[in-house]
Amino acid sequence: MAEHESLEYGKADFVLLDSVSMEDFMANLKLRFEKGRIYSYIGEVVVSVNPYRAMNIYGRDTIEQYKGRELYERPPHLFAIADAAYKAMKRRNKDTCIVISGESGAGKTEASKYIMQYIAAITNPNQRAEIERVKNMLLKSNCVLEAFGNAKTNRNDNSSRFGKYMDINFDFKGDPIGGHISNYLLEKVKHERLEKVGGQIKSGINDGADFKAVADAMKVIGFTGDEIQTVYKILATILHLGNLTFGVDGDVTLIENVKLVSVIRELLSTKEENVEKALLYRTVATGRDVIEKQHTTQEASYGRDALAKAMYERLFCWIVGRINDIIEVKNYDVKVHGKNTVIGVLDIYGFEIFQNNSFEQFCINYCNEKLQQLFIQLVLKQEQEEYQREGIPWKHIDYFNNQIIVDLVEQQHKGIFAVLDEACMNVGKVTDEVFLQGLNGKLAKHAHFTSRKLSPADKSLEFDRDFRIRHYAGDVVYSVVGFIDKNKDTLFQDFKRLLYNSSNQVLKVMWPEGKLRITEVTKRPLTAATLFKTSMISLVENLACKEPYYVRCIKPNDVKSPLIFEQERCRHQVEYLGLLENVRVRRAGFAYRQTYPRFLQRYKMISKFTWPNHDLPSDKDAVKKLLQGCGFEHDVAYGKTKVFIRTPRTLFSLEEQRADM
Ligand code: ATP
Ligand code: MG
Repeated sequence: MAEHESLEYGKADFVLLDSVSMEDFMANLKLRFEKGRIYSYIGEVVVSVNPYRAMNIYGRDTIEQYKGRELYERPPHLFAIADAAYKAMKRRNKDTCIVISGESGAGKTEASKYIMQYIAAITNPNQRAEIERVKNMLLKSNCVLEAFGNAKTNRNDNSSRFGKYMDINFDFKGDPIGGHISNYLLEKVKHERLEKVGGQIKSGINDGADFKAVADAMKVIGFTGDEIQTVYKILATILHLGNLTFGVDGDVTLIENVKLVSVIRELLSTKEENVEKALLYRTVATGRDVIEKQHTTQEASYGRDALAKAMYERLFCWIVGRINDIIEVKNYDVKVHGKNTVIGVLDIYGFEIFQNNSFEQFCINYCNEKLQQLFIQLVLKQEQEEYQREGIPWKHIDYFNNQIIVDLVEQQHKGIFAVLDEACMNVGKVTDEVFLQGLNGKLAKHAHFTSRKLSPADKSLEFDRDFRIRHYAGDVVYSVVGFIDKNKDTLFQDFKRLLYNSSNQVLKVMWPEGKLRITEVTKRPLTAATLFKTSMISLVENLACKEPYYVRCIKPNDVKSPLIFEQERCRHQVEYLGLLENVRVRRAGFAYRQTYPRFLQRYKMISKFTWPNHDLPSDKDAVKKLLQGCGFEHDVAYGKTKVFIRTPRTLFSLEEQRADM
C-alpha cells in the first residue's frame, strides 16, 4: 500500500481508486482536503491542494522522517519527491528536475520554497562554511525576486508575475555549490482581470519590515551600494513617469508637469533637456537625413508607458543576471571533483482562462501545451524504460497527443506566432485585424482553431476580433486586441540612447543598445512572441534531458479560505491539469510495482510459504508463490527486480488480507 495511513483519509494514491471516474477522483480529493491531507500521489506525481492555513508539517522533525526514505514509506509530501529527486541525483548521478504547475494562487511558489528548504536542510552535514554561504544566497534570492517580480492581484496576495526556473548545482558529495535562474515572460502591465492593488495598505503586512528584509537580502547576495541605490532610483523614475501628463499648445506637444522632468533627470543622471526631448520627439532617419519628429500627445503617452514598462523589465532581468553572476558555480574542477549534477525547480504559471484572454494568456497557455507535451513524452518514456529494464513486454497506451496544438502555435511559417510576426512586419497597415485575417487565411481548416468569421453562428465567439483555440485543457477564446502592440513591444530608440548616456554606470550597462545612432539601427528587435517561443523551446530541451518529478497544485476556492472546497472550481483544475488522464496512463500499464524484498516485507504474513520466512531460492520465487496462492497470477508480471501488479483491486485484496491477519 502506498502509505501507512488508514482509509479514513481516502486513498493516498489516486492510482488505487476503485474506478477512474471524475466523481471518484473528486470525492477522494475532497475527503483528503477536509481531513487535512493536502498532499496525495498519482504514482510519483504529487497532487497538492492549497490549505490556506499554516500546516505543522514542514518542521525539522518532518524533514527527518523523509530524509533518505523511499517515496511510498511515508504519507505523500513534497519532501518525499524532493528526496526522491535528490537521491536519484546523488545515487545515480542523474540531473533531475521538479516541475511545479497549477493556476495562480494554487501554491506553486510556496511549494518551490519548501522544496528548496528541504534540500538545504538535508545537505552539508559537515557544515562547511562555503556551502552554508551558497545555501544562504540561494534561499535569499527568492526574497529579492519576489520583491521585484510578484504583485498583489485579486487572485493571490503574492502572485508571481514571471515564470521561474532555477538550477541548483551539487558537487560530488551532494552539497549545493551554486545555481542559475532563468526567468520567463514578466508581466509588465496589469491584466484587466488581474487588478493589482499596489500600494494598498493591508493589515498584517508590514511594508517597513519587508523593505528591510529585501534590502538585507540584496546586501547578503552581494549587490553593491551603488547598485542598490540605482535600483531605487529606477523604481522612483517609474513611479514619476506614471504621473507625467502631456498637453498641447497650438500644434506643439508639451509636458504639463515640467517639474517632474527635473526629478527624473536627477534620478537618471542625465541632462534635463535630453529627458524632455526623448519624451516629446522621435528621431527618424529618412534616407540620409535625420530629422526630429514631434509626437502627438497620444504618441508621447504611448512612449512614456513603453519607457516605464521597459525600464521595469530591464531592471528585473538585470537583477536576475546579477544574482546569477554571484551564485554561479565557481572554482569547480570537473577533472578533480567528478561530475557536477543539477536539480532544477520550475515554478511556472499554469493554464489561464479568463473572461478576456489576451496575448499574455496565449503565451502562458502555449507554455502549458509545451509542458504537457513533455509530460506525456517523459511519463510514457519512463514507463517504457522501466518495462525494458525489468524485461516486461511493452503495451501501447492510448492517450491524447497535444503535439498538434503545439504545432498550431509554434510551427514555422504557418503557426500562430509566425502569422503574428508576419503581420507585425507589414508595411503600411499593421493592425490586430490584419493579424486575424492572416490567421483565418492560414488556419481555416485547422481542427483546433476557429474564428468568428469562420463560424459566425458559434456563440462562444462573441466579437469579430475573437478566435478560439481548442487546448488540451479546454477551449479558450482570445481577443486579438493588443496582440500587435504587445508583440512588437517597441521602445523608441531615443529612450535607449537617453538611458545609455546616463552618467550612472549601473544604469548605462542595462541599455547597451542605446549606443547605436539612429542611422545604425537597422535590425528589427526580436518580437515578444519569437523571444518567448525560443525561451520555451530551450526550457523544454533543458527539462527533457533531466529526470522529471511533478507537483500539481490545486486551488480549493477563490476566497483564500482553509475550509471551503469548491467542487466545480477544483473539478475544472483536475480536468485541465490532465490528472485523470495521468491516472489512466499510470493504470493502463501497471498500477503498482515494488521490489521483491519490500513486497515481501509488507505481505509475507498472508501466506504460509512466506511467513515468517521463506526457504525458496529467491525473493522473486517467494513472491510468485505468494501471489499464486491468492489466485492473482493473471494480474501480475514479474520483472527482474520488481513485481508489477496491473489492477488496484488486487492490491486492495492483499491489503485486506493483511489487515485481517
Ligand atoms: P501565482 O501563480 O499567482 O504566483 P502560486 O501558485 O505561486 O500563485 P503561492 O504564492 O505559492 O501561489 O500561494 C498563494 C498563497 O497560498 C500563499 O501566499 C499562502 O498564503 C497560501 N499557501 C500556499 N501553499 C501553502 C502551504 N503549503 N501552506 C500554507 N499556505 C499556503
Ligand atoms: Mg507564484
